[in-house]
Amino acid sequence: MGVTRLEIDLKALQHNYTYLRSKLSKNVKMMGVVKAFGYGSDACEVALLLEELGIDYFAVAYAYEGKALRKAGVKSRILVLHPQPDNFHMIIKHCLEPSLYSPRVFKGFSAFAKAQHQQNYPVHLKFNTGLNRLGFWENDTQWILEQLKETHAIKVTSIFSHLAASEDLKEQEFTKNQIARFTKIASTLLNSLDYTPFLHQSNTSAIINYPEAQFDMVRTGIGLYGYGNTPEEDAKLQPVSSLKSVISQIHTIEPGETVGYNRAYKASDYQKTATIPIGHADGISRAYGNGVGYVTIHGKKAPIIGNVCMDMLMVNVTDINCKEGDEVVIFDKHVSAVDVSATIHSISYELLTAVSQRVKRVILR
Ligand SMILES: *Cc1c(COP(=O)(O)O)cnc(C)c1O
Repeated sequence: MGVTRLEIDLKALQHNYTYLRSKLSKNVKMMGVVKAFGYGSDACEVALLLEELGIDYFAVAYAYEGKALRKAGVKSRILVLHPQPDNFHMIIKHCLEPSLYSPRVFKGFSAFAKAQHQQNYPVHLKFNTGLNRLGFWENDTQWILEQLKETHAIKVTSIFSHLAASEDLKEQEFTKNQIARFTKIASTLLNSLDYTPFLHQSNTSAIINYPEAQFDMVRTGIGLYGYGNTPEEDAKLQPVSSLKSVISQIHTIEPGETVGYNRAYKASDYQKTATIPIGHADGISRAYGNGVGYVTIHGKKAPIIGNVCMDMLMVNVTDINCKEGDEVVIFDKHVSAVDVSATIHSISYELLTAVSQRVKRVILR
């Protein structure tokens, strides 16, 4: 296919789902994290397949991401990790379940649910145990319990927290401390409530590194998409997304000629260049320009020369036997998004989610 496209391999997704399930203790539920367009793939396609495979729950970051899943026919329960007061209406309208992470959001949502005549509307309590991003603090628990006594509009479905460094074994002590803090907070709440919300703290790397912290459910994102944050885990998973393009034009340039905007690249001798129809508007940051990043053509690395343009980039193909119309790989099952993103000191998560909505999605079933 002669255009820039992101191929989404649903068989790989199924493989990853099955692999991650095999890592879970008995009766532990699995939540598929499909925020940011399913880590840049296609959240609706991913969610519909995971639902068919029997996933227990979904998570999105923002309410409108949950709304899109509902419109696509996703019936499972959906946790909204980062609800905002402006979106409370959307949350209730589409049966989404908010994470309540602060007194402000708790009070705002419970008042809103009450005004909407809701009873026992499912909510999730998020605690900060060391990431210092979103979450109640341990000493908010008494306040929360008092508030819960006074309202029938909401009911706590689960209590959760998020780990700061589950992929980093040098941070084991810190992580174990986070797990202990969460366990303590959760048991205080469970002892005081007359019902039993379920507990979750693990992301993908914690499934692998901290099996003792699976509690009742795990939240897995990157693993479903085929990356495990270590070479060993990467080897067991299969990348779901492949970003591919095509050679639009080949030029032979003379010594001293320059390539691209600002004349940033200057040829030292006769060279063959290829122009590829993918640019920073498609998710290839300008940081990859000027020899930092590369694309792969017929299995060989072609360094990006000059500045990445909005819609195109140019590569040096002097040593590659290739022609116009040939396939170009930015990342796929062989060219790891981990390695490509590492050239700009980034991570697979960022490269995957950067692929913009302009890039055509092709679903492989
Ligand atoms: C994004 C996110 C996850 C998923 O993390 P992965 O490392 O992709 O598995 C889990 N929990 C929360 C709160 C998140 O924001």
